[in-house]
Amino acid sequence: MAVEKVIIIGSGPAGFTAAIYTSRAMLKPILFEGDQPGGQLMTTTDVENYPGFADGVMGPEMMQVFRKQAERFGTRLESKLVDKVDFSKRPFKVWSDGKEYQAETVIISTGATAKLLGHETEKKFWGKGVSACATCDGAFFKNVDVVVVGGGDTAMEEAMFMTRYASKVYLVHRRDEFRASKIMADRVLAHPKIEVIWNAEVHEIYGERLMKGVKLKSTKDGSIRDVPSEGLFVAIGHKPNTDIFKGQLELNEVGYIVTKPGTTYTSVDGVFACGDVQDPVYRQAVTAAGTGCMSAIDAERWLEKNHL
Ligand code: NDP
Repeated sequence: MAVEKVIIIGSGPAGFTAAIYTSRAMLKPILFEGDQPGGQLMTTTDVENYPGFADGVMGPEMMQVFRKQAERFGTRLESKLVDKVDFSKRPFKVWSDGKEYQAETVIISTGATAKLLGHETEKKFWGKGVSACATCDGAFFKNVDVVVVGGGDTAMEEAMFMTRYASKVYLVHRRDEFRASKIMADRVLAHPKIEVIWNAEVHEIYGERLMKGVKLKSTKDGSIRDVPSEGLFVAIGHKPNTDIFKGQLELNEVGYIVTKPGTTYTSVDGVFACGDVQDPVYRQAVTAAGTGCMSAIDAERWLEKNHL
């Protein structure tokens, strides 16, 4: 069986950047695109904060450009999901659709998935007012009222960020105390533009083509409250896509891959991780691309050092 130099798992900005660099280094990577090729950017609309696109770009279009650039230098794309890996010895093994692949190095860029409320109406108004990323979409909500849902640090951050644009930010939390760190919670509680709505859950998002408001249901007495608003940011956490790596690599307590600070090295020598799968903090396309580049350089130097 052929032993590849590099297998990349995941096709967001991190994976494609790793592919561009490793293919330009003549390492002929295979990149598994998974079942949502392009990653989280495929579910966003305008991307205005990626350097180099002065007029902004649509998320899916940007991923097409990344993909094309990776292919141009010889990346072999497999539009399949990896369902099993074995990192216990080298060459590493990766299975997809029952077929086994082997590689000297593996770069993991499987990303994270924003947790969603799971409502029908959330789906209906996704990208039409509903978003899971204020940094990405916040600037589209200038001088309007918005709702942020959640009680952790992400929700605090999203609510604070939205005060720059929105006239008013309603922060909706299902309990009567935040899970967030005290310093961030205090900042939110002191902000004149933020009103916290305790003990409430989203019951329904309504509107016409775009969302116009949200009906909240009290978790105490079931009463319904109407909050007219043009935006709703779901900030109830992310889940790193690491199920297949459990028991193979060191993960932190919430499932993110642990990398050696300042590098993309994981707990297994020769396996590297980049992008959101190892980053609960920044989670931006540009930082994902940056760590994708790092993982390609780490893998390239690792192969050289090991005479492979
Ligand atoms: P958390 O898991 O900490 O918080 C999620 C919040 O969403 C909780 O308040 C939870 O409510 C609420 N929630 C979960 N599911 C639902 C639901 N279905 N409906 C309504 N509410 C729901 O996730 P975060 O993303 O906030 O944080 C993850 C980690 O990242 C934390 O360790 C955090 O400290 C860290 N982080 C750090 C930042 C920083 O330091 N700058 C910024 C962002 C994150 P409940 O409390 O009732 O469970």
